[in-house]
Amino acid sequence: MIIDGKKIASELREELKQEVLKLREKYNKVPGLTVILIGDMAPSQIYVRNKEKSAIEVGLKSEVLRYKETIDEKIILDKIKELNKDDDVSGILVQLPLPKHINKQKVIETILPSKDVDGFHPMNVGNLSSGYESSIPCTPLGCYLLIKKIEPNLNGKKAVIVGRSNLNGKPMTQLLLKENCTVTITHSKTKNLKAECLEADIIVAAVGIPELVKGDWVKKDAIIIDVGINKTNKGIVGDVAFKEVSKVAKALTPVPGGVGPMTIACLLKNTVECFKRSQK
Ligand code: NAP
Repeated sequence: MIIDGKKIASELREELKQEVLKLREKYNKVPGLTVILIGDMAPSQIYVRNKEKSAIEVGLKSEVLRYKETIDEKIILDKIKELNKDDDVSGILVQLPLPKHINKQKVIETILPSKDVDGFHPMNVGNLSSGYESSIPCTPLGCYLLIKKIEPNLNGKKAVIVGRSNLNGKPMTQLLLKENCTVTITHSKTKNLKAECLEADIIVAAVGIPELVKGDWVKKDAIIIDVGINKTNKGIVGDVAFKEVSKVAKALTPVPGGVGPMTIACLLKNTVECFKRSQK
């Protein structure tokens, strides 16, 4: 089965749209998302345009603040502090990567944890790993929702996460642990990745190496989530050898059209959740 991320993301956006209508009725206001975009890198411009378009589509108040590449770090930090105090702003996202002269961690830690829709603030990272309520990074949250669509009961399943980034692999591990999976997290120093993958009921590949996970690395009936986005001369491919793996796996996400659309939908979901928590 090919997991249709586009369709599932569109269903999620529709649910959020209905929820936003109800929130508007109840509170006489809607959740607001503010995105800070620094510089004019083409991929960031495209991501931010898509985020803005989707936010408006579900009825959120959306604002994009654009700054020149050479902007002072202090101006960005002061703007974040101002947004932290603004009741109309439920979520703040600073589009990464940042220019070298701006300290990423300082920026992340200046965002109020309750408005951190990316889930990167150490407080949210800690809350997620302690099992408390938190914002969850959008891509792993999207992967998690896709897995749950295919297999609602993950109790006792063996999951192998390929890649241990703070952005993807580590939060993915926490989400699957919470579902009572037995999770193995692998990385560039893992001795026998193929053998680890062959044990897995679920594989989440977030590496950045084109088609690393091969057909003979995958157990029959496994669920495979491919986070990778790699530009090659064949076009965009994932971290999983799609053709080979699709012959073996029970369910597999395509690239593009799998995890990507879920990432943006989950950003909107996080904004709605931040708004709801702020009203409590
Ligand atoms: P990252 O920060 O570069 O982390 C890559 C991870 O893969 C590291 O933990 C690294 O191990 C591990 N790794 C490298 N070579 C390996 C190997 N041969 N075997 C096993 N593990 C290996 O990457 P990321 O930010 O998580 O992104 C991963 C991929 O996802 C990229 O293609 C990126 O473009 C894509 N992505 C997609 C979305 C989306 O919305 N679909 C969002 C974000 C990222 P070490 O820790 O040992 O170095």
